[in-house]
Amino acid sequence: MIETRNPATGEVLNTFPTQSWSDVNGILTAAVGAQKSWQSQDGAARAFLLHNVASILRDEADDHARLITDEMGKPLAEARSEVLKCALTCDFYADHAEAFLRPQPISTDALTSYVTYQPLGLIFAVMPWNFPYWQVIRFAAPALAAGNGGVLKHASNVSGSALALQSVFQRAGFPEHLFSAIVVEDYDLVEKVIADPRIAAVTLTGSEKAGAAIASAAGAALKKTVLELGGSDPFVVLADADLDAVVPFAIKGRFVNSGQSCLAAKRFIVESSKYAGFEDRIVKAVDALVTGHPLDDATQIGPLAKPGFVDDLDRQVQESIAMGARLLTGGHRIAGPGNFYAPTVLADVTPEMPVFTEETFGPVLALIKANGPEHAIELANETRYGLAASVWTADMAAGLELGARIASGALFVNGVVASDPRLPFGGVKMSGYGRELSREGMLEFMNARTVWVSEHPAKL
Ligand code: NAP
Repeated sequence: MIETRNPATGEVLNTFPTQSWSDVNGILTAAVGAQKSWQSQDGAARAFLLHNVASILRDEADDHARLITDEMGKPLAEARSEVLKCALTCDFYADHAEAFLRPQPISTDALTSYVTYQPLGLIFAVMPWNFPYWQVIRFAAPALAAGNGGVLKHASNVSGSALALQSVFQRAGFPEHLFSAIVVEDYDLVEKVIADPRIAAVTLTGSEKAGAAIASAAGAALKKTVLELGGSDPFVVLADADLDAVVPFAIKGRFVNSGQSCLAAKRFIVESSKYAGFEDRIVKAVDALVTGHPLDDATQIGPLAKPGFVDDLDRQVQESIAMGARLLTGGHRIAGPGNFYAPTVLADVTPEMPVFTEETFGPVLALIKANGPEHAIELANETRYGLAASVWTADMAAGLELGARIASGALFVNGVVASDPRLPFGGVKMSGYGRELSREGMLEFMNARTVWVSEHPAKL
């Protein structure tokens, strides 16, 4: 039995009976059957149903947002934006899938040769709680639009979101079981699903530990994986940046989703001439953030999704302080019910400290001083992660030139890093491999099939 709890109050929200292997086995059989007929549907029919999903999500946005907020605690307005972004992404793939999958002619010595794109089959997705709808839609929309099927094992604490999404796909008219959520807690069962011959490929978004476990199981079964893992993105502020303009973006980039985002900026690397000015402005802005119940309109920072996350974050903060970081504000859990942590700023952070070396998944901002642009890039790269990076400067060419030297899946110059269905998303180093979103993400689970045709040979 899975029990979900409201992170703002600690109260039990719901209980979900977990499924046995026999239940899951039945779902896989139904799902693989649904996918086989789905792949022969034409693109227009698939697009029509994806547009239906988008309409349902828009029409019911308030209900879905409330479910997200209740289950994982993000402020309601952010939950609503998440649902609307999912709708936009369904529309995007409905509009573009056919063009993305059009055969590509290639000139060779054949009479005609080209590449076609065929769906792989049933894709198994293991997903995290931090964007409970978005993480699912960004795998499911391109997969289904391309003729694949999807089986979802969602994070246990957002089991209600998993089942709500399954219902949306069904009500939109998708064949039953083409998109199926399985409600399981036992990781051995997850590995059994991965090994099952009915599963063609696996995608995981989550921690490095889960990524390693899932990729090992998939590797043993010789199945392709896409892994979207953690991040500790650098936010590099060069000496010519206008601090009054940049600071609001810094706040947005760090505190989105109460700091629980893989691509949130986590290490703020500031050239020394601007360091003191940045520090002052950041502390004022962080002190002005409103922490509270995520259903209150004024709330900007909600609770962390699980009680243990408060302990993990506090350990990173306290150990960094013990190693010499200067606490400017926050640095403690908030007493009372719910998993609240005070928005925190640590200055004089150095590369040995946990808030630098580890991913901080909560409202903690680390300030790091750089002696110049070269040092800033060195610090930006001094991490095992490589999800994204941003550089802030009045000189766009310098931002591009310096940013090109940071190892990451994305570079933003003068912009807060964000995912966008039109652009590929994913990491390098320990942030994972493979891409989601855009055409690149769609092709991850396609067979790029070579076709080569010539005249009947007279002789060799
Ligand atoms: P998590 O603990 O790794 O869980 C992710 C999913 O994996 C959940 O469904 C979880 O199920 C499952 N899982 C965990 N260990 C497993 C195992 N050994 N075998 C099978 N399944 C396993 O991560 P999280 O706490 O939910 O999410 C936070 C992490 O995700 C952060 O590191 C964050 O950076 C990363 N993330 C990355 C991206 C990206 O795009 N790169 C986006 C969002 C989040 P249970 O819930 O049942 O444990």
